[in-house]
Order: sequence, then structure tokens, then C-alpha cells
Amino acid sequence: MTDAITTPRNTDIAIIGSGIVGLSCAFHLQQLGRDCLLIDPHGFGRETSYGNAGSISIGNLLPQSTPGIMGKGLGMMFDADAPLKLDYGAWRNWFGWLLRFVREGGKGRVMPIIDAMHAINTASRDAWLDLAEAIDARELVADTGYLHVYGQESTFEAGAWERQLMSERGVSYQVLDAQQLRDLEPGIGEQFTRAVFQDQSLAMRDPGQFCQRLGEALEACGVQSFRAAVAQFRAEQGGYRIVTDHGSVQAKAVVVAAGAWSNALLRDFNTRIPVIPARGYHLMYPKQADVVHRPTLWAERYMVLSPMVQGIRMTSIKELTAIGRDPHYHLIQRRDADARRLFPGLQGEVRAEWSGYRPCTPDSLPIIDRLGEHEIYLATGHGHLGLTQAPITGRLVADMMAAREPAIPLAPYRRARFD
Ligand SMILES: Cc1cc2nc3c(=O)[nH]c(=O)nc-3n(C[C@H](O)[C@H](O)[C@H](O)COP(=O)(O)OP(=O)(O)OC[C@H]3O[C@@H](n4cnc5c(N)ncnc54)[C@H](O)[C@@H]3O)c2cc1C
Repeated sequence: MTDAITTPRNTDIAIIGSGIVGLSCAFHLQQLGRDCLLIDPHGFGRETSYGNAGSISIGNLLPQSTPGIMGKGLGMMFDADAPLKLDYGAWRNWFGWLLRFVREGGKGRVMPIIDAMHAINTASRDAWLDLAEAIDARELVADTGYLHVYGQESTFEAGAWERQLMSERGVSYQVLDAQQLRDLEPGIGEQFTRAVFQDQSLAMRDPGQFCQRLGEALEACGVQSFRAAVAQFRAEQGGYRIVTDHGSVQAKAVVVAAGAWSNALLRDFNTRIPVIPARGYHLMYPKQADVVHRPTLWAERYMVLSPMVQGIRMTSIKELTAIGRDPHYHLIQRRDADARRLFPGLQGEVRAEWSGYRPCTPDSLPIIDRLGEHEIYLATGHGHLGLTQAPITGRLVADMMAAREPAIPLAPYRRARFD
């Protein structure tokens, strides 16, 4: 943080967490004219929001758990190439969550979740374009769409249900044959002959840089940023005392936007939310032109190759774990060969590897809510789509605080759905 302060003044709203979700909340709250303080020990967007695949996935409407997930999941346990991994040493953290995850994907429960996923992702396109314009960072958000490619006919056919759901809800997409796929991405590997192109999706070219620029733009508008870790916060003097490792500060309201770390912060309010970390990884390859032009997902591998400002990024793996456990980099290293099968023109050695915690709920929807009668607002649990949904989340939190009609109905994102 360039202008991070060492002694913050008491504030109207303290926002815990400066990932893309906390920053987006600060943006919209500052626009309401509220005094905001961002608190984070690491600066702007240095955790999960730094290393994602950069897809602003407007057309995505399926949660992670869908009918048949139990059989699919069991199959993945015996497939070394499957993206789902379980960190068995942390089983206490994810076992109950996993049972709930399977339940949420049941036939009787999944349709409202799909509608809620569609609603928030559709609203995210304008929210993203407005945010990027407002901070003069439009060049980092490319209008390239999102490409899903299939290595097997059977997987493409299994996606018929998803395509039907998209058609029924008016999601813009095109099914591509082998030639149309090569017209769009000439460098694609020869085993890929089927694809679905979601043309309304956007592509973030540098998530870390975007967060940094958004944070600096907020500072220029008077938002304070405080590099500290919140140990706890409690109700005091008609507001909240926020105790950090660098002193304490008083606020009238608090937004908890601490991603996978959010749960621990709520313990003084007797609240637990089913948000667990699902670790994902990336590898960075050198910058090279004309290899891949947009985020491209290999559906069977759940692996994405994305062109970024610094080079080409490959992301994959969903490892259920607990905060603080050691990452297992071999899981992503063994995907290097797959990245070169997806785009055989990919050159050069891996330049960097990274891992980060997706903050996941069992139904894949975020938690955007007010905590009872408290002036505490939750903006967390965005899982696999937090980059996509961050700006609209900021808008919805501001809608709640301003007591105005929300941009989309809030009911599906309320915490009480898990009670
Ligand atoms: C490999 C991978 C690929 C992904 N690809 C995509 C994609 O293509 N599209 C998409 O939409 N999403 C994607 N995601 C998901 C997306 O990155 C996340 O959902 C999103 O970044 C979550 O943002 P956040 O602000 O909630 O969390 P974070 O970015 O993790 O921010 C939380 C912040 O809270 C801070 N914090 C924690 N504890 C405290 C404390 N006690 N006091 C103060 N601050 C604290 C942390 O330091 C951190 O900066 C991907 C994720 C991964 C891992």
C-alpha cells in the first residue's frame, strides 16, 4: 500500500480484508460519501485475488455441486489427473462441509442456486466495466469472452444440460466445431474438437495490478488503508472496537471481507459460516504472443490457460484444506504437460508458482448479508467466482447500508440459508 497509515483515525466503516471483494466494497461505500478504512496485513489484493485465472465469467451458472456429484467425486478420488484433491490431514475442517456440498447439489435444491448464480454473474458485467472505467483501468479488462474446450465427446455431451440451462436463461454462447474453434484459437491442441464460447465474459489481464490500482485510487479519494491484522472486534460505545496487531480503532460499522479467513473474525458474535478454503494453484510461463488469446478452460481437467500482462498463467486444482497447511505444489507441477497439450505452442520454463485459498460455501453462492441487528456486513464466500462477483458484491453491500433497493434480490445470498 503506497499511502498506508500507521495510526488510523476512527472511522465510519472498517472493511476487514483488501482483496478484490473488500476493495470493491470500499469503492461503493466511498461513493455513498462514507468514511472508510481498509485493514489488511498484506496490502491490496496480495492473497487469493492476486493469482486467479482472470476470467470474469458472466455466462457461468452452474454451482460446483450438481446432481450426480457424489459419483463424480468418488471417481475423482481414483484419478490422479482429476482436479479435486482432499488434504486428509485437515479432514476435520472439510468433512462436514463436504456432506453439505453434496446435499446442495441434489435435484431438489439445485435449481434456485442456479438461478441465483445466473443473477449475480449476469449483473457482474456492467458492474465490472463501470468499476474499471471509474479508476481508468479499462485496458486491464479485455472483452474476449471465455472459451471452454472438450477433449472427449462424452464430456461435451454431458454438458447438454448446462447448455439448455444457459439457453433457457438467455445466456449468450456459441457451440463451436473443430474448424470454428481453430478460427478463434488457432494454437489449440489437435485433440480438442468441441468447444463452447461464452462471448459476454470478460478477461482480467492482471488481477494483482488491478487491485493495487483500485486501492491507490481509493486512497486518492480519502479512503484510509491500514496494514494490520485484525485479532478480534467487539461491540463498544455504540460501534465496534477493532483490535489489530498494530493497535485498535473504533468504527460505526464493519464489513467482513476477509475471504477464507472470515470465520475466525466472527467468533465474538457466536456466528459460524460454512466457508472453507479450497486451495488453487497457478504456474506462470514467459510472455509470448499469439499462443492463447482469452481464458481457455480444458473442461475435463478443470484447467485454465489465460494470457496475462506478465506472461501466460495456468490455473487448476481444488484442494479442500485448512488455513495454514502446507501447499502441495507437485499437484500443479504435474499439469505442466497438460498445459502444453492444450496449447502446443506454449514455450519456455515455468517462471513462478503460486497458491491461494478460494473461500468456498457448500452451494457456491457468496454470503452477502447483514449480521442480525448489528452494523456488521458479510461479503465473503465467493469461492471460484470472487473475481467475477466482487464489484456487484460491493454494490449490494452499499445498497444494504443505504437501505435502498438492491441491484438484485438478496435472499439467495443471505447467511440464514445455512441455519
Ligand atoms: C487458482 C484460482 C483461480 C481462480 N480463478 C478465478 C477466475 O477465473 N474468476 C473468478 O471470478 N474467480 C476466480 N478465483 C476465485 C477468486 O480469486 C476469489 O474468489 C477471490 O479472489 C476472493 O476474493 P476475496 O477478496 O474474498 O479474498 P482474498 O483475495 O483472499 O482477500 C481476503 C483478504 O483478507 C485479508 N485478511 C485475512 N485475515 C485478516 C485479518 N485477520 N485482518 C485483516 N485482513 C485479513 C487477507 O490478507 C486478504 O488480503 C480463482 C481462485 C483461485 C485460487
